[in-house]
Amino acid sequence: MARKSKFSKDIVISVVAPVYNEEQGITDFIAQVFSVLKKMDINHEVILVNDGSRDRTLQTIERQMKQYKNLRLIDLSRNYGREIAMTAGLDQSVGDYVVLMDSDLQDPPALIPQLLDKLLAENLDTVYAARSSREGESFLKKFSSKIFYRVASRVSGMSIPDNAGDYRVMSRRVVNAINSMKEHNRYLKMLYAYVGFKTGYVTFDRAARTSGTSSYNWVKLINAALDAIFAFSSKPLRWMSLISVGISLLLMSYAGMVLVSKIIGNHTVEGWSSLMFMVSLMFSILFLFLSVLSEYIGRILTESKNRPLYYLREENGSVHFQSQSIIQHDDSRR
Ligand code: UDP
Ligand code: MG
Repeated sequence: MARKSKFSKDIVISVVAPVYNEEQGITDFIAQVFSVLKKMDINHEVILVNDGSRDRTLQTIERQMKQYKNLRLIDLSRNYGREIAMTAGLDQSVGDYVVLMDSDLQDPPALIPQLLDKLLAENLDTVYAARSSREGESFLKKFSSKIFYRVASRVSGMSIPDNAGDYRVMSRRVVNAINSMKEHNRYLKMLYAYVGFKTGYVTFDRAARTSGTSSYNWVKLINAALDAIFAFSSKPLRWMSLISVGISLLLMSYAGMVLVSKIIGNHTVEGWSSLMFMVSLMFSILFLFLSVLSEYIGRILTESKNRPLYYLREENGSVHFQSQSIIQHDDSRR
């Protein structure tokens, strides 16, 4: 190889990917990522976070570790979901720049050099991969995710691009900022928007999954949507309190009217429909507000317990990496 690397010898890049039941595709993923990193000729580590896979993913990764010495495995104690799995990977990463990507090859590893080039050339802190197309996804999934981003952006007051996934490269500054947020109701896309920093993007065509199955489903989407709204914004509470004030003013004046008409002796004994209307309207609003309150109270409960976000069953560092002085283990973070 005659070409000298354009990347400084001093920088290290970490590639972090959550893995859940990917035994069929993971070997290919590992091979592709390492081949890209090798071509880039850059110091690197690849961190796979096994998120409680139920198939032979773990054994497959362990076998690959014999071949790739910069492959690190973080084995979580159970399935926590991809947000927490990605968080665990970010926590453990040591690189100056961290690439976050899915391990199902829907995020093409070939894009890594482009992402990093843009970040370095334009001195940005985050460069995300914007999907210009999303193959293998139903119209309904695309449509619902569009609506979801609209609502989430609206409610949280932050701009969350709807064509961005988690595939991105971040500087250590951004990774540290995200790591410093220990909330349980996590939604990384909101956290990227929240921490800010200079952000750019490159576009790519998102391919369909080649193997395994997507764990996406409606329940997950609805949960994510509720989290994005209730965990990141207190606006619904504000709306409720404003509406409550309005209703109570209305009711007060209505009570006044009733009183006055009683005093001046107007006999009005009609009223099943008006009474029922009032009662059902009031109760419907009341229950709606109760449900919003429950959403908040439930989240306050989980957050106030302040438990660790995840437990590690095992962490297999790479021997190669631990011998280098750039690694600083911050045990207080675990
Ligand atoms: N994943 C995970 N834990 C889960 C579900 C998924 O770590 O509970 C990983 C999965 O292995 C993949 C990534 O998250 O690398 C994206 O998952 P998936 O392909 O199911 O989501 P989609 O691409 O359909 O949005
Ligand atoms: Mg996928």
